[in-house]
Amino acid sequence: MRALVYNGPRDVSVEEVPDAAIEAPTDVVIKVTSTNICGSDLHMFEGRTTVEEGKVLGHENMGIVTEVGSGVTRLKEGDRVVLPFNIGCGHCRNCQRGKTAFCLEVNPGFAGGAFGFADMGPYDGGQAEYLRVPFADFNALRLPGGTEHELDFAMLSDIFPTGWHGTRLAGLEPGDSVTIMGAGPVGLMAALSARIQGADQIYVVDQQADRLALAERAGATPVDFSKGDPVEQIMEATKGVGTDRGVEAVGWQAHDHSGTETPAGTLDTLVDVVRATGGIGVVGIFPLADPNGPDPLMQKGRMDFPYGTFWMKGLSMATGQADVKRYNRQLRDLIIAGKADPSFIVSQELSLDQAVEGYEHFDARDDGWTKVVLHP
Ligand code: NAD
Ligand code: ZN
Repeated sequence: MRALVYNGPRDVSVEEVPDAAIEAPTDVVIKVTSTNICGSDLHMFEGRTTVEEGKVLGHENMGIVTEVGSGVTRLKEGDRVVLPFNIGCGHCRNCQRGKTAFCLEVNPGFAGGAFGFADMGPYDGGQAEYLRVPFADFNALRLPGGTEHELDFAMLSDIFPTGWHGTRLAGLEPGDSVTIMGAGPVGLMAALSARIQGADQIYVVDQQADRLALAERAGATPVDFSKGDPVEQIMEATKGVGTDRGVEAVGWQAHDHSGTETPAGTLDTLVDVVRATGGIGVVGIFPLADPNGPDPLMQKGRMDFPYGTFWMKGLSMATGQADVKRYNRQLRDLIIAGKADPSFIVSQELSLDQAVEGYEHFDARDDGWTKVVLHP
């Protein structure tokens, strides 16, 4: 089969690789119909992770079941499913408590496994014609048959639940105001989620005009950090009060207007704009270490964080990969009911053979490249 393979920094290619196959009785194989490129893929693409050469990337996958392992009971050939980017075993302590992003079984020595991802186990990704799905009864979410809502459902594999998770980690309640750092796909999904959950004011900070326009489309007030300090802009807009909640949706490769990386920049902003006793949810990725990165602290996985202000304001913060399975069923049903349209951010639908150009344009944050979906 053909698949998108990581060869090294800024070097990916579509290659012939061994077919995805059943390896355990609890596996299924799917024919991938949609698989997205994610901001998380870009950390790997840019050579800023330990992802190994030869890995098939792709953790935002959906498709049709083509092969069913002998131990699978709920799924059958022809079922249309979407897969959380996380792989969970379903029976460890964390999976049983709903913390499926921190499965203790699928990636021994580490809490958490995922498709096609650095440090997340030996699993290949789905930017490929076919994908092996471990513990398929537990991980696969069934979808209505046919092709309706293909792009909306494709957003259930990661970014819609992840944006939702950011707002839950922040403790958002109806009537709260929220500042979201980053208008990438995850930040935009956090804005959509905040709107659905009844947020009062939603501010989304970025400097990409096309992405800020989508934030406005999601019901948020765009804040362009190239036009001045976002703290000042939000303080002015809120008459000096700030917002109740904050969501970090950029990660450690955050940068200032000139492009210089400022790993703590987004958290600095949130600690300033979130009101005393408010909450911050961090879904942007911060790695164990970034040995090849430009920031000496972050090279060791540490950060210059304004802990004194954070403490004095009595703020709380929660972090981590999103437990997609905790939300994807309900979010699927919101899509079916016409109450959520996460595909509004999709800008390109490409074939697998166009995946390399998809990576290059999305990585450059080229104008009009807000979310890329591949149809292998
Ligand atoms: P993206 O790279 O497409 O978007 C990031 C956006 O942040 C860009 O639009 C960029 O212009 C903006 N940005 C950069 N510096 C900024 C700053 N200082 N202030 C405000 N905005 C700034 O990525 P994405 O797909 O939206 O993902 C965002 C982050 O979420 C990434 O770190 C990704 O790895 C992570 N992620 C986490 C999970 C999870 O489960 N926790 C899941 C998916 C993605
Ligand atoms: Zn992703």
